[in-house]
Amino acid sequence: MTTAEIIEMEEKYIAPTYTRPPIVLDRGAGVYLYDLENNRYLDFIGGIAVNSLGHGVPEIVGAIAQQTAKLIHGSNLYHTTPHVLLAQLLVEHAFPSKIFFCNSGSESIEAALKFTRKWAFGIGGEDKHEIISFEHSFHGRTYGAISATAQPKYHEGFKPMVPGMVYLPFNDIDALDQAVSKERTATVIIEPVQGEGGVNTVQGEFLKHLRMLCDERQVALIFDEIQCGLCRTGKFFAYQHHGIEPDVMTLAKPLAGGLPIGAVMMKPHIAEALKPGMHGSTFGANPVACHTALAVVQKMITENIAEQARKAGEALTDGLHVLQTKHKDIKEVRGSGLLIGIEFEDEVDGIVAACREKGMLVGSAGEKVLRWAPPLVIEQSHIDEALHILEEVLVARGI
Ligand SMILES: *Cc1c(COP(=O)(O)O)cnc(C)c1O
Repeated sequence: MTTAEIIEMEEKYIAPTYTRPPIVLDRGAGVYLYDLENNRYLDFIGGIAVNSLGHGVPEIVGAIAQQTAKLIHGSNLYHTTPHVLLAQLLVEHAFPSKIFFCNSGSESIEAALKFTRKWAFGIGGEDKHEIISFEHSFHGRTYGAISATAQPKYHEGFKPMVPGMVYLPFNDIDALDQAVSKERTATVIIEPVQGEGGVNTVQGEFLKHLRMLCDERQVALIFDEIQCGLCRTGKFFAYQHHGIEPDVMTLAKPLAGGLPIGAVMMKPHIAEALKPGMHGSTFGANPVACHTALAVVQKMITENIAEQARKAGEALTDGLHVLQTKHKDIKEVRGSGLLIGIEFEDEVDGIVAACREKGMLVGSAGEKVLRWAPPLVIEQSHIDEALHILEEVLVARGI
């Protein structure tokens, strides 16, 4: 089939929830993607921070084949091996905790909100139910997750939201002091680096204060590391930059190398609030997803992918700062490791399209921020290529 035929069929058969550019992705190798017409693209969005090890990775392909041949699904009615091994490895590299596995980021948010409300119910009953989240956050598209997402554009037309949500400005300590309540607040949810909402990094002082308040007022603290976790910011988890731990952490995007998976890691005191039958998922802890995730996490650890991301992020950010001196429309270059936001004076749609036409896929985070979340295994040649393409685009557009 041709590109035009596929696009025509999409219009006819696929629900219109996405605007897609006129290319059809066909295959990937390393940090490059190829469309049906064999055009090559440098992948600087990584399937939205999912393909952290790149495309066509032998360990990932092998893990999928191996587990698929053995057992694809056995259900949560029975014990299986892969999720136990994966849980052990994650816990060893994070904090003492137990894990609930599901199939996406949003599902892990739903579970985290339910689990922490259940824990808080045990302390303060139904009064202690409020969930605090922050402006420009993004936690997903299911009802609990969009309700926690403090961006009005995601709520429009879908109200009423789940009750009990409180939205606070990001990095505002005074607002926190007033809102976090021992009687009313069940949980606070925060992204250590906000992805979708513009690539905004939390201030260390703010996060430490939040941890202190949550301890003092018996409130659960959830870190949403779905996008920023698993090596992307230059540490294994983004919270490790700050010397504190959450009570609960959600993971998803890069965990299984592109297969659907979500995970909620919770400290033992939260896990103690749960009982069999309180929550579940038919596909959760799927053996293929978990066995593949095990291969991904093992590779991240043995090859010190976090350090690679830190170094590559530094080189890329340095290069972008040089570009910024020549192109005044670049307002700010920000982020952490290889989660990078480049804020412009105007909307970035045209820049995204122009980069694609020159052979590089990039994303946006809001209207005016270009988002780069490439595979963490990019090398200096890819950094040079990306900076060169962006510079050409900016020169051609006179900005
Ligand atoms: C993508 C994302 C989600 C939602 O994950 P889905 O798998 O799309 O449901 C939640 N939180 C953050 C920080 C994300 O980046």
